[in-house]
Amino acid sequence: MATELKDRGFVCTQCGGEGDLESGQRFLTCRFCDATLFVDRSGVVSHYRLPRLLGADEAEAALRRWMAGNDTVKDLDSKSGIEAVEAISFPVWLFRVQAAGGEEVFIEPAAPTTIPQLADFKLPAGKLEPYQAEEEVVEATPETIPLETARGWLEQRELGRATETALVQLPLWRCRYSFENQSYLALVDASTGAVMAAVFPEKAESPYFLVAALGILLFTIEGLAISNPAAKFVTYLVTAIPLLLLAYWVARKI
Ligand SMILES: [Zn+2]
Repeated sequence: MATELKDRGFVCTQCGGEGDLESGQRFLTCRFCDATLFVDRSGVVSHYRLPRLLGADEAEAALRRWMAGNDTVKDLDSKSGIEAVEAISFPVWLFRVQAAGGEEVFIEPAAPTTIPQLADFKLPAGKLEPYQAEEEVVEATPETIPLETARGWLEQRELGRATETALVQLPLWRCRYSFENQSYLALVDASTGAVMAAVFPEKAESPYFLVAALGILLFTIEGLAISNPAAKFVTYLVTAIPLLLLAYWVARKI
């Protein structure tokens, strides 16, 4: 739970000890229990981070695997050039909620983001560690969304009351790459290797729709033309095989 702010002082969320607060100070360490704390407008909360388990090379490898996967356009991994891989951190509000099936953790972003997966981040279990600034981070995203705003979003989702609130810094690799003279942005979660992106060269869907439309057309014509059930079955089967081959060829091609 967030503890209250006092006149030029604060109460530690972990041990209840009181300390002084300088105006404008946002990051604190409790002098009694060494807890790392964050000062929000509405109170003081625990401050954690996830460990940066992936280095830049591993992040790049994770990005290449994602590029070679099924969501992106064919050969994106070989046709795109990775231009920059930078260490950044991104803050999220953590809410521990007592639900019917036990305790659940929910995340709300503490800064604006255009990456939908970041706003809907799934926190890996049991990895939180006390916050400590990373040396190599080129950009720590500032916490510009206040706790009250995030708490409001949580209430709208009607998930229950939070029993613990904290700020968590997510370690990310910000990757810029180019494909066909266009520049793209992807984030690699440095804790799990998951790739997050809002805009990327996607696999074209229209050829699949054409194959599906052709199939519907052929089956409909056959259905109307043939009345004998056994003959209908055989004709459907004979039509389905080239359609499946065509679908397979399309999948390989794009
Ligand atoms: Zn303390």
